[in-house]
Amino acid sequence: MSGSMPSRPRRGGIRSNPRCGLEEKMTDFKFTLSRWVEFTLDMGCPNSCVYCPQKLLMSRYYENDGKRKSSMTLGDFKNILENIPKEVAIDFAGMGEPLINPEAVDMMAYAARKGHKVHLYTSLRGASPKQILRLKDLPISSFVLHLPDGDGLMKLKVDADYKKRLALFHSLNLPNVLYTCIGKVHSEIPGIIKVEPLETPIVSRAGTLDTNEMPEQVKLTRNFMAKTGKRLCRQPTNRR
Ligand code: SF4
Repeated sequence: MSGSMPSRPRRGGIRSNPRCGLEEKMTDFKFTLSRWVEFTLDMGCPNSCVYCPQKLLMSRYYENDGKRKSSMTLGDFKNILENIPKEVAIDFAGMGEPLINPEAVDMMAYAARKGHKVHLYTSLRGASPKQILRLKDLPISSFVLHLPDGDGLMKLKVDADYKKRLALFHSLNLPNVLYTCIGKVHSEIPGIIKVEPLETPIVSRAGTLDTNEMPEQVKLTRNFMAKTGKRLCRQPTNRR
């Protein structure tokens, strides 16, 4: 593109100043209102869902430096947040389980104090009872609780410890929780949460899912993908 063309606002409300030639950060309310930044707090998710491109992510992340930092600290988070306008929502989700990070709840509290909307996507894996109880007092705009399925697509054991964590979270009686499962929910879950979770078919994140590797028990979702194509995006358009 020609350098003389006026620069256009970029996503996230950051645009360059064509007159001085310097890139200048500008908060554009119109742009940032419906914007969000997604944080992955730790590299590598132990849930290893078959539909999640963890291997690819890890190999790219450590491609040039096998000793790269794998975990975000509260200090890192605060530094990053300095550069994000408060109109931008902060999603604790990314490509990992946020609550594995011992400082995750402190980060959520900090982002909320700074005026950001906060959203949490979690499987509760690794969450301590203390972390779960603290969630009740935070102004979190929405929770998406990713539940284990009955076909082992998500490698999260529905054992006594997990059931206790899930029951504790459910007992908080939070009004803004979406319980969801990719595939068919594990048979023991409805007895704990007493609500019907939203079951969704597998989607290929950024087209990275190799459908040939999918186990036999997900034929239904395979058919779904055959109909819709391999590359899918489920993000609602108003959150782009
Ligand atoms: S829980 Fe989420 S981040 Fe973790 S492996 Fe599954 S889809 Fe990926």
